[in-house]
Amino acid sequence: MSLVNPPIVSPPIRYQAVSLPLCHNFGIQLSILRLDETHPHISGNKWYKLQPALAEARRHPGRPILSFGGAFSNHIHALAYAGQESGIATIGVIRGEATSASNPTLQDAQRWGMRLVFVSRKDYARRYDPIFIDTLHQTLGDFQWVPEGGSSAAAIQSCGDIWSALSASDVPLDYLFCAAGTGATAAGLIAARPASVKVFVVPALKISVAEVESMLQAHWAAAGFLQPDGYQVLPGCLPYARLSPELAALWWQLSACYGVDLDPVYTLRVFHQLSRLILQRRFKPGTHVALLHTGGMQGLRGHADRLRRMAPAFYGPLPL
Ligand SMILES: *Cc1c(COP(=O)(O)O)cnc(C)c1O
Repeated sequence: MSLVNPPIVSPPIRYQAVSLPLCHNFGIQLSILRLDETHPHISGNKWYKLQPALAEARRHPGRPILSFGGAFSNHIHALAYAGQESGIATIGVIRGEATSASNPTLQDAQRWGMRLVFVSRKDYARRYDPIFIDTLHQTLGDFQWVPEGGSSAAAIQSCGDIWSALSASDVPLDYLFCAAGTGATAAGLIAARPASVKVFVVPALKISVAEVESMLQAHWAAAGFLQPDGYQVLPGCLPYARLSPELAALWWQLSACYGVDLDPVYTLRVFHQLSRLILQRRFKPGTHVALLHTGGMQGLRGHADRLRRMAPAFYGPLPL
């Protein structure tokens, strides 16, 4: 895939001011940057990540895009809609049992015309293995391969374009907090960062700082960036998509009392880490801290019951 895609022209991003006692008491200005509002179905960062893949598909009419994801994948959901919208056929290789085809995420994907292929966890683990991709070609014919999460080298570059949509605000940012799954979004943001903004990366899985660092390094190498700086990686404390009673209670209170709606897999964890750092006085009074809302709200449908059931199990103080 060509790396010389033109910069992405995207709608400006709304800054939602968050008014929490936590912020007042520590003199912090907190904003949620509503990247999730970029498109009603092509969620948040996935809109940016998919643009180069869609451009490539338009250069090869008739060839489907094939990509990978779990049963509640925001990427699969976004790709299915984007494919329908652009008249591009899509194939989703889904980890796990075909019974998940009836969940809301995959129901949408099928309604939007995506063909689903279910593979065992063992096969899914081979998603970057050229021999496995070859066997997919043998059964499914020609396709354009897009990695899990849409995290291609070109996608890393287009995530850097998020900054141009952010520049709409009059209030200069000091810190931007971003979730990481594959780390491609964070890698792109860090590489294209304005000198005055430092980026914090919060993993959505149980993973060490060193492991996230090596993911970022691999993305930068693939996209041709040299060792960017001005960022900090925080450790990932919970396995992917796992909830704790504290996180469930935090989600509930943010949504019900403060009008802050986050997704439980990515941005809720980012908020949790961010609030801890405010409590630890990591930011000077007057600092403007922002959380990038990368979207993923469709995934809430798979978590809402669990969030409501778990939240009352937490009795400690919340970091608000
Ligand atoms: C996919 C996703 C991420 C992670 O993006 P990566 O580029 O894979 O790190 C973060 N937030 C949300 C809501 C997502 O859907």
